[in-house]
Amino acid sequence: MSASRSSFAEIGRAFCQHHRVAIMSHVRPDGDALGSELALGLCLQQLGKEVHIWNEEGMLEKYSFLPRAELLSKPPAVPQDVDLAVALDTAIQNRLGTAGQAIRSAKLWINIDHHVSNPGYGDLVYIDPSAPATGQILFELINSQKFPLDQDIAENLFVAISTDTGSFQYPNTTARTFEIAGELVHVGLNVGEISRKTYENYPRRRLELLRELLRTMRFDADGRVASFALDLKTAAELGVIPEDNEGLIDHLRAVRGVIAAVFFEELADGKVRVSMRSKSDAVDVSAICQKFGGGGHKLAAGARIRGTFAEVRERVLEEVCDIAKRNT
Ligand code: AMP
Ligand code: MN
Ligand code: MN
Repeated sequence: MSASRSSFAEIGRAFCQHHRVAIMSHVRPDGDALGSELALGLCLQQLGKEVHIWNEEGMLEKYSFLPRAELLSKPPAVPQDVDLAVALDTAIQNRLGTAGQAIRSAKLWINIDHHVSNPGYGDLVYIDPSAPATGQILFELINSQKFPLDQDIAENLFVAISTDTGSFQYPNTTARTFEIAGELVHVGLNVGEISRKTYENYPRRRLELLRELLRTMRFDADGRVASFALDLKTAAELGVIPEDNEGLIDHLRAVRGVIAAVFFEELADGKVRVSMRSKSDAVDVSAICQKFGGGGHKLAAGARIRGTFAEVRERVLEEVCDIAKRNT
């Protein structure tokens, strides 16, 4: 992590002093990535800025209810010149994917994130690993700089924080997180309505995927490690799209006795996407994923590993079981 952390005042000043801003976040975006991008984009638009909001995948179908979702697009094929390039919620720069490549030049790079593994790339860097969501950091930034915060911005921030905290359940959810949620509700959002749109509007396909994943479920290390896997063939048969599996790993984590949950997904490019969750500080999945070239948080991390499906599963499970058995 970068030794020096920029202040909100410095970052706020950079926003005020520049005009063309590109906002980006990581590939395979989640609610924190997309909600944070839109919230900051809307805020800067209200400050009169020319704002581009890009994500490699564009807006996901399941988050298309986010206010002003239409402002978020795939990055342009022709690289652009901007004044500020802003990376949100993105642990390593290359996880910006094609969005990162769409910047031809920027006067300043700003990196705002909460991943402990973030090396601190960029000119102005604000990384707070204690924050449960990038959306929470953005609230503090907007609040401290007295930047605009209307209902559209509030709803985007709420979804960012709600999804990254597992609906305000994970241990990094603090009193401050609830205070911020309270502030956002005060702005006027309807908790029931936004939660229903976020958690009770999945396509049936997602449950069909869960049914197939449960068929592959296994428990190792005396029940401490649970895993399931999705191969390319099954994914094609079900017609699943990448966003369908967000959160399914929580079913494994929710089992009594399970310390670490692992989800393996075979990718078309010869790599395997690995998603990991931990229920104990003694099993740091970010450290495990970093060994395999990935990263994330202590209790939620991921990696993309080259190799055959069977071989990667074996290698990763061996490592996770070893650590789970030794430390718990
Ligand atoms: P996921 O399992 O995809 O929900 O990711 C869990 C956490 O790990 C997220 O905070 C991601 O940003 C991070 N993460 C996932 N995959 C990678 C990767 N390949 N490299 C670095 N961080 C990752
Ligand atoms: Mn994220
Ligand atoms: Mn996040």
